[in-house]
Amino acid sequence: MDTKWQPVIGLEIHAQLLTKSKLFSSDSASFFKQENTSIHPVSLGMPGTLPVLNQTALEYAIRTGIAFNCHINKKSVFARKHYFYPDLPKAYQISQYDKPLCEKGSVEFICQGEKHEVRIHRIHVEEDAGRFRHQAEKSLVNFNRAGVPLVEIVSEPDLSSPEAAASMVRMIRNILKYIGVCDGSLEEGSLRCDCNVSVKEVSKDKLGTRTELKNINSFKFIEKAIHYEIKRQINILKTGGVITRETRLYNSIKNQTFPLRSKEESSDYRYFPDPDLLPIVISDSWIQKQKKYIPELPLIKLLRFKKEYHISEEEAALLVEDPDLAKYFENLFCASCGSKLAVNWLINEVLAKLNKNKQHISKASVSPDMLGDLVNKIDQNVVSGKMAKKIFDTMWSHKLNSDQVIQKWNLKQISSEADLTEIIQKIISKFPKQLMAYKSGKLKIFDFFVGQVMRETRGQAEPEKLKQILKKKLD
Ligand code: ADP
Ligand code: MG
Repeated sequence: MDTKWQPVIGLEIHAQLLTKSKLFSSDSASFFKQENTSIHPVSLGMPGTLPVLNQTALEYAIRTGIAFNCHINKKSVFARKHYFYPDLPKAYQISQYDKPLCEKGSVEFICQGEKHEVRIHRIHVEEDAGRFRHQAEKSLVNFNRAGVPLVEIVSEPDLSSPEAAASMVRMIRNILKYIGVCDGSLEEGSLRCDCNVSVKEVSKDKLGTRTELKNINSFKFIEKAIHYEIKRQINILKTGGVITRETRLYNSIKNQTFPLRSKEESSDYRYFPDPDLLPIVISDSWIQKQKKYIPELPLIKLLRFKKEYHISEEEAALLVEDPDLAKYFENLFCASCGSKLAVNWLINEVLAKLNKNKQHISKASVSPDMLGDLVNKIDQNVVSGKMAKKIFDTMWSHKLNSDQVIQKWNLKQISSEADLTEIIQKIISKFPKQLMAYKSGKLKIFDFFVGQVMRETRGQAEPEKLKQILKKKLD
């Protein structure tokens, strides 16, 4: 990138809260219902209906504020944000404006081996709009989503690279999953990310005019869209042009951004406090109670994993992506008596099997105890690594433990001196020509004999012992 220019990036992230019902009505907030069946009169903005605040949604939002080190305002206010669009029956969205629930927080994450800290400007509660499905000739709208609770997390423009932006969204997603308030799916739209991008001259303090990239639905695309946008803006500025303040859409097929609409000013929305809703007043004890729901968060867990289990940063980062996966690893580490092999087996075998079918760790058919037991057998030379893979496959497909598999398929490692000697002698006498060749100095033939013994024992001979005895016998 041109060293004269510095990108400036700020994120706005909308996260759907995992409540049973909507923010202001009793109809289901579930994503999986038949279209237009969760449509309480409140969700449809029928005249005469009144909103009633969902306490769980508020508690989840408080929890979110705590997890992002925010100040939780003791008093905050719902405001109406007015605009017309066919997915918004009331023609206003209930959101928060000048008195949001949470302010002045921060989030830390690691990107390319470096720790970053980004300030969180605010986190507020609002309701979602309906969902469009655009078809060739018409657009359909599903009001099941209208009124589903969201938190909007707004960062300060502290980011300066597309990679850091994607890492930050990843960390935000993981934190939301850890505290159990959002399932964090970019693909399904339960987590939606708008990226605000501008560039400025490195030598100047003043920020440039920004554009807003809307609703990008994967981490890869977040990076690519911002990369494209930075380049586009630099090209315009270099040739003396000006950036238009606008909202743009990213097209992943063309890998370009396109203007969607010019950016509204907040005065366009005619915000005012919602007269149907009282201010939210929160007591200290309520906040304290929510703190109990904050578990060890991903970054702290990552640093602990590195230190406590001596695994690499990449491994630790992968394991803390999901709280259940992290738990699996800790149980496995314990069950395998702290084996160095544990992390490899989890990543290369268990996760590989799950990823093939896009399954969650909770669907693993080999438990940490069962895998730990197998790893112990490798460490104790009861089975070779190669055999262990075979055993593991059978454990997985038959839901059996390693002892059952070894017994049923007779797969134990052969390590007794007497047994190995007998087999080796048999093989040597079977190949007199090769024996002669070895004796006359063709030492490479040694490997031939090893291979034959392995074949005879279906890979079950303990390799080191086999080589020892074979050498003795041949010499
Ligand atoms: P609005 O309410 O109009 O969307 P805000 O001031 O609340 O505007 O900012 C929204 C987002 O834009 C925040 O994430 C903020 O960090 C980001 N942002 C503000 N100024 C810039 C800028 N010059 N370049 C990049 N991002 C910016
Ligand atoms: Mg905005």
